[in-house]
Amino acid sequence: MSDAAVTLDVLFHGVLPSPHGYVYRPDGNRVIRTLRGFGGGSVPLPCLSFVLRHPTAGVILVDTGFHPALVERGAADFGFPLRVIFRSVRPEPTAFDAQLRERGIDPGDVTQVVMTHLHGDHTSGMRLLPRAEFVVSADELRTARGRGAATKGFVAAHLPGDARFRVVDIGRDGVPFGPFAQSIDLLGDGSVRLLSTPGHTPGHLSVLVETADRGTVLLVGDAAYTRRNIDERILPLLTDSDGDARRSLDALHEYGRENPDVTVIPTHDPEAWRELVGHE
Ligand SMILES: [Zn+2]
Repeated sequence: MSDAAVTLDVLFHGVLPSPHGYVYRPDGNRVIRTLRGFGGGSVPLPCLSFVLRHPTAGVILVDTGFHPALVERGAADFGFPLRVIFRSVRPEPTAFDAQLRERGIDPGDVTQVVMTHLHGDHTSGMRLLPRAEFVVSADELRTARGRGAATKGFVAAHLPGDARFRVVDIGRDGVPFGPFAQSIDLLGDGSVRLLSTPGHTPGHLSVLVETADRGTVLLVGDAAYTRRNIDERILPLLTDSDGDARRSLDALHEYGRENPDVTVIPTHDPEAWRELVGHE
């Protein structure tokens, strides 16, 4: 536990309807499950970002929401080919920057953002934060800048220059934390911990937050799309590495089992985030 507990707010940016078999991998070999993966009804995946307020460090965001261009023109903002995959996105009418202002935060004043990963549905609003430094893992930035990134869900036009990133090498500098092989205590007071949870992408981070009002909250990012993925240890249809994704799911599962009071929030869980806004 930490003395410097933070408060946590969730921002809702829209819904990305996704095939059931994309979220929960069907049985069968790669060909069969890919064919099945795009059937079976649709799961309304929410798109979220988070606002932490730390007593001394101030506002820290986790991921970003949707740019006004996305709100106005929809999936075109993702560029090709992601706009095809995300063509059914239903953005909220209030863009990310306006949502921050509604909460008394000037986007120009934001200085710290933790990026769980750099997929397009998390990076759209990076362009709205001109003074922010983006904390990202070394593996993630390397992949987002690398060959074939556009075909792996990264949108180069969303990303700022290298100087705007604070790259953490969690594989080199991280220390074990519970079932997680690597962690970094972001502020040195235990209030915000980065956990290495690769598999969805090579450098994916989850974020463990000690809050003043909600106890411990685990922001899973996309290491699992939903709580069911964790509870039943079901991989999604697509991963960067099945082995890493499986290990990360196992660690999340074990952590949740050992810490039943922790609120576990996968970014795309249709229901979990509502607990953070007091809905049923
Ligand atoms: Zn996502």
